[in-house]
Amino acid sequence: MSFLNEHPPRWAAKFSEWIVVRGPAGGVYLTFDDGPDPDTTLRFLDQLASLDCLATFFMLGEKVAKHPSLARRVAETGHTIGIHGYTHESWLLKSSEWVGKEIERTRSAIFDATGVNATLCRPPYGRIGPGALKSVRELGLPFILWTICPDDWKPTPPADLVLRATEKTHDGDIILLHDSGRGAETTLAALPYIVSALRDKGLKPISLFTTVILNPSPPGTQSNCHPSSAMGEESRSGGAL
Ligand SMILES: [Zn+2]
Repeated sequence: MSFLNEHPPRWAAKFSEWIVVRGPAGGVYLTFDDGPDPDTTLRFLDQLASLDCLATFFMLGEKVAKHPSLARRVAETGHTIGIHGYTHESWLLKSSEWVGKEIERTRSAIFDATGVNATLCRPPYGRIGPGALKSVRELGLPFILWTICPDDWKPTPPADLVLRATEKTHDGDIILLHDSGRGAETTLAALPYIVSALRDKGLKPISLFTTVILNPSPPGTQSNCHPSSAMGEESRSGGAL
């Protein structure tokens, strides 16, 4: 069923209060999913530090529980941490109760490891069903999707990845990358060139923020996020999203 793989899903516009596709103007948003990973996450942090660049890491609860010091390091270095589920199981056909438990379990693992109360949420594969939508409304957490998907989990030369991540990128775009999995080495190699290419276009790579002010605007047309003043300015079947 092809509609299951639509991104953003066609009906998302009806729920733009809860489904964020674009970030605020004034930045572009590198997001890294599926970590923390003991083989690669620290190297991403080093790379980002050398680039003087903050990003957003959507973490898996089971990996946070296994590698709490890595999650803590991500928080300590100023990056935003979001929830990407506990096990990376798709939420598409799950009940709101199931999704709610998955989110809370992950949020709790992140809090225990870092002291951060994560308020941003990205469903595995970006797949959202009725149960997930009900759950996120009950919990008051927005789903953060993306506008730029360079498919960094697929085998690809770094130069091609750089092009896919930057060529059509505009202010407010959210870029989906991974700091764990089979594409992570390529992503790591491409990262300095991605950041450089974005800056050459006059774009400013920054992190998402822990508080998102939701406003009803159709995905892809307007900013749905706003930085939190409290925080200041400071990511199988169908692929490895
Ligand atoms: Zn993922």
